[in-house]
Amino acid sequence: MIAIVKGSASEEQLGHFVKWIENRGLKTDVSRGEDETIVGIIGDTTQIDPFLLESMDIIERVQRVTEPFKKANRKFHPEDTVIDCGYGVKVGGGNFQVMAGPCSVEGKNLIEIARAVKASGAAILRGGAFKPRTSPYTFQGLEKAGLDLLVQAGRDAGLPVVTEITDISQLDLLADVDVLQVGARNMQNYTLLKALGQLRRPVLLKRGLSATVEEFLLAAEYLLSGGNEQVILCERGVRSGVSAARAALDVSAIPVLKRATHLPVLVDPSHAAGRSELVLPLALAAAAAGADGLMVEVHDRPACALSDGGQSLTCRQFRELSAAVTALLPYAWRPDTF
Ligand code: PEP
Ligand code: MN
Repeated sequence: MIAIVKGSASEEQLGHFVKWIENRGLKTDVSRGEDETIVGIIGDTTQIDPFLLESMDIIERVQRVTEPFKKANRKFHPEDTVIDCGYGVKVGGGNFQVMAGPCSVEGKNLIEIARAVKASGAAILRGGAFKPRTSPYTFQGLEKAGLDLLVQAGRDAGLPVVTEITDISQLDLLADVDVLQVGARNMQNYTLLKALGQLRRPVLLKRGLSATVEEFLLAAEYLLSGGNEQVILCERGVRSGVSAARAALDVSAIPVLKRATHLPVLVDPSHAAGRSELVLPLALAAAAAGADGLMVEVHDRPACALSDGGQSLTCRQFRELSAAVTALLPYAWRPDTF
């Protein structure tokens, strides 16, 4: 349930109202926008009579929110959430941002890749150090040594860094990482999500391989309900069983998510594509459909990559992708288009 507060209400009146609600064992989420203030009411709201609330002096109107995701809901928070990822890089709220880098951190070539992607407009450096691989016999990541290389390359290039956390025990090692990534395979690892919900650090949450949009938003709700409001969503393709690519990029999920939630929505065309020649068309589709940014795998020598070389772009291909996407952005759909 949400209560829309009249513009004439004072902070003191608002405070009394919030207390009145919380005394009934419910939680509140106050969103102060430019035009209106909204009090989200979370919990068993069946005990609250909406007509009673509407009879209160400071309340304009009351609306029931039937969706199970609350704090992620745009009805609770109409304005876009903007997330500060460090080095002045803001994600969301109309700032189109690109994260780029290799699938896995492999060695010193990362510095070269970091400089190249930055020169082409990337704002955040990616690179996995703990790799959740399908086969236990494939490269599992450089772990701590990889994290050190990633942080070093980010500092060298002046870029914030994003990398995957696969277990909460890795948190100490990830102290200098700007954005923590929860991979598709862990989207429903609720123990991990609850632990990350206790942090006050940006989390990039990837959509599960076969998760519905509602399940995706409820996974985000685990982070938000713990108090960590810095959540970036990432669509990366789902398993349809019929896609000619590695996964089916769910382009329709982009406007659906943009309407349903205030959280930024990024798209990873690389893992959806599985093949480098499909990355550009999927990136263009994502940008046109209203994504707030992209995550793209880039390698200096894809043929030699230790993971996901087949879908990795060369630094030159990334430069071309970046230019093509930038040219398209003025025509991209936005939630306020229609
Ligand atoms: C990745 O981004 O490195 C990755 C493993 O992606 P996903 O979790 O989407 O498969
Ligand atoms: Mn990968």
